[in-house]
Amino acid sequence: MDVEHGLFTELRRVYGSLTSRLIEKLKTPPRRLYVRVITSRITRSDVLKLLELEGVKAHADPYYEEAIYMEIEGPFNVECESEKYIVVDEKTAVSLLLGSDLYRPGVVKSMSFRRGERLWATTRRGTRIACIEAVVSSSAMSALKHGLVGVNIASPYRAPRISSTRVYSDGLIYPQSLPSMATVIALSPKPGDLVVDMNAAPGGKTSHIVQVTRGLARLISIDRSERKAGLIRELLRRLQLDYNVVVVPGDSRYIHLDLNLEGRVDRVLIDPPCSNLGVRPILDYERSLKDVLNLAEYQKQFLKSAYFILKPGGVLVYSTCTLTMRENEENVRYAIEELGYSPVELPNPLPYSEVVKYKGVVGYRFSPFTEDMPGYFIAILTK
Ligand code: SAH
Repeated sequence: MDVEHGLFTELRRVYGSLTSRLIEKLKTPPRRLYVRVITSRITRSDVLKLLELEGVKAHADPYYEEAIYMEIEGPFNVECESEKYIVVDEKTAVSLLLGSDLYRPGVVKSMSFRRGERLWATTRRGTRIACIEAVVSSSAMSALKHGLVGVNIASPYRAPRISSTRVYSDGLIYPQSLPSMATVIALSPKPGDLVVDMNAAPGGKTSHIVQVTRGLARLISIDRSERKAGLIRELLRRLQLDYNVVVVPGDSRYIHLDLNLEGRVDRVLIDPPCSNLGVRPILDYERSLKDVLNLAEYQKQFLKSAYFILKPGGVLVYSTCTLTMRENEENVRYAIEELGYSPVELPNPLPYSEVVKYKGVVGYRFSPFTEDMPGYFIAILTK
């Protein structure tokens, strides 16, 4: 991962002389892989027991009652006696880095290879990730749409494969970063509240809202397309949390014009697209400062429309999985100075976060330097 100069300068505003170390950290996965337990359906201790029966050692998080985590092992030195490579997409590269096997849909292109041959799996930019032993030949692979292409022989990290456990397929757990869980804890929705999730797909936080309110809040979950709305509905069904949620495909920048919600909403969550600089591990980073500036402008529009629909005294939570001031502190400052929101400071900071104070803004930052978390930012505002 290389960071463009403008973006480096932007990150230096937050991390100063630690910026180069930060970028090194961003290339690595966090030490813990977190999972949310659907505590409205099963207790956390039962999930820990069931996972143990399947050979997965997980631990209860001491601060968040729905969170469990598994340790990621590594880094290991990866060797592969091969000059050949197979190129995989970004998401697949991350799972190979953590020890998963390679399946057909993740393959972008490859050299020709025989069954049983070893290959380097690389990103599109040629970053070497893991050593794969092919279980099919390249010509057999091109005829496939699905299925196993190669087994992972050596990877820099190893993480338990949660998605092959029974508790996962039964919809009793949901893999989710700890700061994402903290976002809904910060929103603190109550039974009876009218809640709007303005950027809801695939539904991680929406399903958490249903979970903590036991389905007794009225929730409107919006995302930009019918396909994205479908993802939310599917997740709610899978986790059996489909209570009192209206899923709306649409552009939530215009929600105040499209839905009759003006001044009626108790709590709003804005979790907009961002530059993703906190999402570890980052293998190849393509964005520049210009992209960050565009994203920041886009994010402001949600803050604006949310103001119209919130009740006086209503609560807004703004969260991003990134670390730039433009998308975090400065957007919240805009919300306070230009739109009229007031900052809310929690009596105790969110566990694992550090309190950020900047020109009237109060926020909570999760950082690779604090308990090896992903980078993430949460601010709580009121109207
Ligand atoms: N809150 C989600 C993750 C959200 S990612 C979760 O916890 O699972 C950001 C989302 O914002 C994406 O799904 C993207 O489609 C959505 N988005 C982008 N522009 C939007 C718009 N104008 N209106 C509504 N949603 C939008």
